[in-house]
Amino acid sequence: MNIDEDDIAQMKRGLSWVDLKQSLEIGGCPICNTMQRSIEKYFNSLLWEYALDVSVHTKNLASFGMCNTHTYMLKEAEKTLGSDGLNIAVLYETIMQKEIKLLKNLSNAGLVEEKDVKEKEKKLFNFSKSRDFESYKKEMLSELIGKGICIGCSHLEFSESFNTHEIVRLYKDEEFRNIYENVEILLCRRHFLYLINESWNKEALDYFIDIQKSKIIRLFDKMSGFINKHDYRLKSQMTDEESKSWEIVLEYTGSKQGINKEGYNNLLI
Ligand SMILES: [Zn+2]
Ligand SMILES: [Zn+2]
Repeated sequence: MNIDEDDIAQMKRGLSWVDLKQSLEIGGCPICNTMQRSIEKYFNSLLWEYALDVSVHTKNLASFGMCNTHTYMLKEAEKTLGSDGLNIAVLYETIMQKEIKLLKNLSNAGLVEEKDVKEKEKKLFNFSKSRDFESYKKEMLSELIGKGICIGCSHLEFSESFNTHEIVRLYKDEEFRNIYENVEILLCRRHFLYLINESWNKEALDYFIDIQKSKIIRLFDKMSGFINKHDYRLKSQMTDEESKSWEIVLEYTGSKQGINKEGYNNLLI
């Protein structure tokens, strides 16, 4: 893909550039920063406007609710909205209905009288038909296990991909470079890898690798300073940047809070 100056100029007139600049101002990984804001906004609108939306219910039902991180993020969002939990109750009502239906089917399984063959055929699980107990359990579990992915994760999948592409597209822009090269900004390892995955030419790839390399060497230096200056004779010389370096290293390897370090999009596809 080739991006010319007109594309970049057009992109910078859009809202995503405003969003990206905001993320670059925060420091750390700009992709994580945008994703954090984006999921927060998404949960707010989900609770305010879409708690009754059919397509939201269908997706949340398929995955039997959300992953652990998003379950508690949603709970926080409900609290922040000042709600007593009604939005969540409405959103999860259909899951409970489906669960009851499934459990009723499970508790009926195998209890059907042999003579009532027709009735037996209708039941979801049929112990006598299964080859053995293990395949009987498998049959049950295949009904019980959620089939979809968490709606929060699915939202982040889009946000991760969109925002990474925006950064790759901007690599030649001078204004972007001036901000991006700032030492306060550091792509987390996950997003650095994903950015490599999504780069479409060697020039862009080389640019991002060079910047990352010099920032990582600098960070390692600061952390070495932090360790070495624990010697009481040197303690007074410790800089702010050195004393915070271990936190930046944690964020580099583990991504920002609430953002899965394994990411949401696959690498190498
Ligand atoms: Zn990140
Ligand atoms: Zn999730």
